[in-house]
Amino acid sequence: MGTAMTENVNNAPVWVNTSNCKACDICVSVCPSGVLGMKYDHTSTLGAMISIDHPESCIGCNECELSCPDFAIYVADKKDYKFAKLTDEAKARQVAIKANNYMSLDLQGVK
Ligand code: SF4
Ligand code: SF4
Repeated sequence: MGTAMTENVNNAPVWVNTSNCKACDICVSVCPSGVLGMKYDHTSTLGAMISIDHPESCIGCNECELSCPDFAIYVADKKDYKFAKLTDEAKARQVAIKANNYMSLDLQGVK
């Protein structure tokens, strides 16, 4: 099962092996495009879990994958996925996520 999580089964730009994620926020902090956020998750021992809230905004920069200390987040290969361009809206969302202590804006009903 573990290795299967490294494959992009859903044709997503970015995906997570939740069993490896330590909810450290690092990937959320390095994303330039407001794609990621943390959500409270009482089923996780850490009380939170990474959430991919805006996959449509992923620019494929690989920063999240390169920064993750636990090899828990993966980005599609550029030849397999057509990534978005960085927009002002996405940049502004990232600023808001940072101001929200890297917690998902979806928790507040904000997109
Ligand atoms: S950097 Fe890795 S371990 Fe940390 S929250 Fe992101 S996916 Fe999880
Ligand atoms: S590849 Fe870049 S834009 Fe996409 S989620 Fe990771 S850090 Fe964000």
